[in-house]
Amino acid sequence: MLALKASTGLGLGIVADGRILRGHRSAAGEIGHVKVEAAKGLICRCGDTGCPEAVAAGWAPTVERLRSDGQQVDHVRDPVAQAVRGDGQARSIVRESGRRVGEAMAATVTVLNPRAIIVGGDMAGAFDTFAAGLRDTLFSSTTALAGRDLQVLPSTYGERAGLVGCVRLALESVLSPHAVDAELARHHG
Ligand SMILES: [Zn+2]
Repeated sequence: MLALKASTGLGLGIVADGRILRGHRSAAGEIGHVKVEAAKGLICRCGDTGCPEAVAAGWAPTVERLRSDGQQVDHVRDPVAQAVRGDGQARSIVRESGRRVGEAMAATVTVLNPRAIIVGGDMAGAFDTFAAGLRDTLFSSTTALAGRDLQVLPSTYGERAGLVGCVRLALESVLSPHAVDAELARHHG
């Protein structure tokens, strides 16, 4: 599965056979910085141009467009909350963000053929709206076979997802029986 975090930034966790794929330099999953046509020429906060973050993340137009309209927007949570309340402009911004993320993820989905995409982060607060945009561009850009049975689902843990993930990682690595035994042996051995 692919665990998408769509919030101030964009990130992707790749889980295959129950394990997180981190990549050679633990740099896998940087979906916010694969280059897309829609962001061509736009400067990203990573210093490069052409990144989906520059068009789809919470720091980018999502917040800036509302701000330029004179609206009180401090964080991506604000337009998300407005979208949930039914505000047309906020809904269109969240849906557009989903569309851009769908474009960026299409190649990854085509290559990896995941069973599910889990949407977390602040954008998931308006999951239906965000996912509608994401499905729209994703399914039209990936192969029919990779798109078949592919589910787009909201994160189960909501705002706690990052914390739950950290705890899980700690339990499975530094606090695993094997790691604790090794640590004890190092001190007493
Ligand atoms: Zn970037």
